[in-house]
Amino acid sequence: MSLIFANMRKHIEGHKYLTDHIDVLELRAVKTVYIPLANGNSTNFDVLVKEGEQVKVGTNVGVRNDGLVVPVFSSVSGVVKEITKISHPLGMVDHVVIENDLKYEQEDLQGIDYKTASVEELVQFTMNKGIVGCGGAGFPTYVKYRGAKDIDKVIINAVECEPYITADYKEVQANLNYLMNGVLAMKKMANANEVVIAIKRNKKELVKKMQAAITDPSIKIVEVPDQYPMGWERSLIRYLYKKEYDNLPSEIGLIVNNSTTAIQLGQAMDNGMPIVEKIVTVSGDAINIAQNLKVLVGTQVKELLEASDNTSVEDVLLINGGPMMGNTMKDADYVISPYSNAVTVLKPKDLKTIACLRCGACSDYCPAGLQPVRIMEARKALDFDTLVKLRADKCIECGLCSYVCPSKIDVMQEVIIAKRIVTNLKKK
Ligand code: SF4
Ligand code: SF4
Repeated sequence: MSLIFANMRKHIEGHKYLTDHIDVLELRAVKTVYIPLANGNSTNFDVLVKEGEQVKVGTNVGVRNDGLVVPVFSSVSGVVKEITKISHPLGMVDHVVIENDLKYEQEDLQGIDYKTASVEELVQFTMNKGIVGCGGAGFPTYVKYRGAKDIDKVIINAVECEPYITADYKEVQANLNYLMNGVLAMKKMANANEVVIAIKRNKKELVKKMQAAITDPSIKIVEVPDQYPMGWERSLIRYLYKKEYDNLPSEIGLIVNNSTTAIQLGQAMDNGMPIVEKIVTVSGDAINIAQNLKVLVGTQVKELLEASDNTSVEDVLLINGGPMMGNTMKDADYVISPYSNAVTVLKPKDLKTIACLRCGACSDYCPAGLQPVRIMEARKALDFDTLVKLRADKCIECGLCSYVCPSKIDVMQEVIIAKRIVTNLKKK
């Protein structure tokens, strides 16, 4: 490992013990689902259904229309009630509201055999099934494989480094066959030589099961340390191969996908079903029953909280995702999307901030190689030229600078403001 990068990860308390040993509970009997017309940062969607229309599980109800194709699907059978705006991490966003008839009638959907399908057919299938990055970002998977060339390895990221979250762990435990088929389809789409599944070395039992489930000698399992943010693509690639890239791992012959994404692809290939259900970790120091719930896409988060014995979000911090990289939400009306992995509820901390000690810890640990303290100072001085030079737009919002700061300064928030400034300046 490069000495330069050695410090840029840290073991942080994972709190995974709250949920990793508890069976996943199914939460299906919701009266209404709200299918979000959003993907990544985009809300540019065509609606494909009308009020009063009957839909089934797997009916395509909308599709992203801004150059990327991301269809979204009903997770229940029932009637479309309306298209309405409700809260979402992107703001108030249109959702297709469907009243659940609790029959769960399914569309007649077809899978695909990756062994006999052509690469083009597999990429098209991945697009048509709305397979997206399930690590929290929702990036459309087919884009990584469309026209992929000179790819040596597909890396499957099962590291799940963010505190509290165990949803990927539970998905892998429950779906080893889908995982193995999904990764082999990805290998074929990339025309890669090898698949490397990266998982934390403290998951000994699961690693044994994964080894036993391997169906092809080109699949390898690599154990990585329990450090944050090991699951970030750049950190993982630095650790595994001591390599850097400018924009995309494909520049150095690598494609990275989350393990749950591979599982969702494996499942779609088997039965044709797009992502209509997800395992979501509901945890945090202010949750009464920490657990993993298997929920329908479009289930409101308040239903997950009620199932976890938390009926109010007053006086707590509600986070869509994990505590380091998630978004704080004002209410629990927002819903589980195809790429949600966690709902975290924390007690607000009464932190006394003191002046910067100029200790340099934030710079030492920043996995993006930034100098957060200098960015913070330049932002306060409105010195935009320096902000550009300091590459504030490269912040990945991992939260490590705030976490390690002995002065309890929320350094990341300062850097995020600077990041927006630099991003806007670069657009001009
Ligand atoms: S939040 Fe941004 S600035 Fe802070 S450590 Fe992470 S990448 Fe670096
Ligand atoms: S970690 Fe905190 S105290 Fe240390 S240099 Fe960065 S902002 Fe200042």
